[in-house]
Amino acid sequence: DNIIVCNDVHKWFGNFHALRGISTTVKRGEVVVIIGPSGSGKSTFIRTLNRLEQHQRGEIFVDGIELSNDVRNVDAIRRDVGMVFQSFNLFPHLTVLRNITLAPIKVRKLPAREAEAIAMELLERVGIPEQADKYPAQLSGGQQQRVAIARALAMQPNIMLFDEPTSALDPEMIKEVLEVMHELAASHMTILAVTHELGFAREVADRIVMFDEGQIVEDQPPDEFFNNP
Ligand code: ADP
Ligand code: ADP
Repeated sequence: DNIIVCNDVHKWFGNFHALRGISTTVKRGEVVVIIGPSGSGKSTFIRTLNRLEQHQRGEIFVDGIELSNDVRNVDAIRRDVGMVFQSFNLFPHLTVLRNITLAPIKVRKLPAREAEAIAMELLERVGIPEQADKYPAQLSGGQQQRVAIARALAMQPNIMLFDEPTSALDPEMIKEVLEVMHELAASHMTILAVTHELGFAREVADRIVMFDEGQIVEDQPPDEFFNNP
């Protein structure tokens, strides 16, 4: 049961060939950690999966829907794919609770009370229910990132994409965020994560996919990856 299928995906930025024929599949519930040198196309690849970047050649299917120019497809896929960035991207003028309820109310058309109840459950799940009425700037980086994860989960996605979610955090906060990701993986969420956290990769990943110069150059389970220098 492949939840993501990529066939020969290419992406150019002007003349620069950033993705050079990516073909891969991800099974439902799989945890894929993406590594590789800076500038190798990792971020471009996962941004392509929810149309933050547009591929110019090849095909992508997400949860059975083709990622095409049809806006209905793009909207359906974006609803199905939660994304967490390095910079937390919270709305600074909204409380934590409102950050989380915004999309469920606007996009899923949930009544505010229902959206708030779900948001509170998610804040419990990421361990910061007491921060609901604070503003993002009042929270630590690790707390903000956990809000960003809760916000993505509020749309009930089937896939979660992480783009260096811990790179902007202090070590103590990195641990908090990795714990939440660990639990998400245990709940059988499909996860693609660009991360330098090799401990997480070793413990949690089903596969480690290595990018280099816009191509996938390795794709192995962690035990093989770490035992083949
Ligand atoms: P990684 O995530 O592996 O560090 P990226 O996917 O961010 O790599 O970038 C891959 C390459 O594409 C880099 O050389 C980067 O400079 C280039 N790139 C990324 N986004 C753009 C853009 N919007 N315009 C031009 N070049 C870009
Ligand atoms: P990250 O490493 O977190 O992916 P980057 O610094 O590579 O972030 O990119 C940040 C933003 O700048 C992205 O929107 C990316 O598309 C854009 N970008 C990256 N490289 C280039 C480039 N060479 N020219 C123009 N835009 C770029």
